[in-house]
Amino acid sequence: MSLRAGDLLTQTREGLYCPLGGFHVDPTWPVPRALITHGHADHARSGHGKVLATGQTLRIMAVRYGEDFCETRQEAVLGEEIRIGDVTVRFAPAGHVLGSAQIAIQAQGVRVVVSGDYKRAYDPTCLPFEVVPCDVFITEATFGLPVFRMPDTAGEVSKLLDSVALFPERAHIVGAYALGKAQRVMALLREAGYDRPIYLHGAMEKLTELYKREGIPLGETPKVVATERSKLHGAIVLCPPSAIQDVWSRKFPDPVTSFASGWMRVRARARQKGAELPLVISDHSDWPDLCRTIRETGAGEVWVTHGQEDALVHWCGTQGIAAKPLHMLGYGDDGEAEPAAAVEEPPAVSDEAVA
Ligand SMILES: [Zn+2]
Ligand SMILES: [Zn+2]
Repeated sequence: MSLRAGDLLTQTREGLYCPLGGFHVDPTWPVPRALITHGHADHARSGHGKVLATGQTLRIMAVRYGEDFCETRQEAVLGEEIRIGDVTVRFAPAGHVLGSAQIAIQAQGVRVVVSGDYKRAYDPTCLPFEVVPCDVFITEATFGLPVFRMPDTAGEVSKLLDSVALFPERAHIVGAYALGKAQRVMALLREAGYDRPIYLHGAMEKLTELYKREGIPLGETPKVVATERSKLHGAIVLCPPSAIQDVWSRKFPDPVTSFASGWMRVRARARQKGAELPLVISDHSDWPDLCRTIRETGAGEVWVTHGQEDALVHWCGTQGIAAKPLHMLGYGDDGEAEPAAAVEEPPAVSDEAVA
């Protein structure tokens, strides 16, 4: 009898589990052996036994949680096959943040791809998404509604630069998540020719330094010194979204508040976040890219982990692709999935929540 996808990957309390390999993928609870797609706190948690991830993801985890974030770690080289128990795994770029990878799990000619979070849009801070043909494609659906179509990022960045040119006396405070989004905004500003220092809130410093060590050129990025805040006329300052509405941001000269997120596509959300200058910059696939990616993988079956699952499952049905929502709890807190939550710490998951 041939192997079925359900034999390769099942859903457990801790998350997706591969019984033939004896490992979990992005578990939300501590497990003996974890394969991690990327460094966002909802996917990469501390306290596992063995962790297999790309070198960049391992280094991101060490910066966030300390060097002892797991018992033993193993680096997955992109494109290389690794044998674990009765399966072969291979990591492929996901285009989401530095180090992000999809994980292809294969046995007896059946291949399942866990994509983690991914995007197809341009991002100078990480490798582009690679289409991995598979039988079952496991996808997120953060922006899984037809209304979500993300604009070109260059246009969004020029809105910010136009505002800086128009209001040279005002500081521009941009809320962006500390892993990925912040560095992408910096890199896009540099590509647009902005060569002045980009000031950072202290919470962004360590990860930004890591990006630079990994070879991503971000230019001069001094940390904001508290006593200097009132003098930063015309400066661009990046901070965690939670700092936008607090007293910290009000100490700058006549600040223009901005927020870089895919959710800025929704006007009401922008108002709610207090963003005068919303920048629609998403690290997740928009609707056309979710649909295109599913088609390109050639998968006959799609599992949707989190986000706007129903619409994507329905769309798969119209394409003759079997699909089911996994309703996975504990994902979607990497910042973009829920703009109300500023996530610096992994969210707590209770017994009831996963029952
Ligand atoms: Zn993520
Ligand atoms: Zn996520």
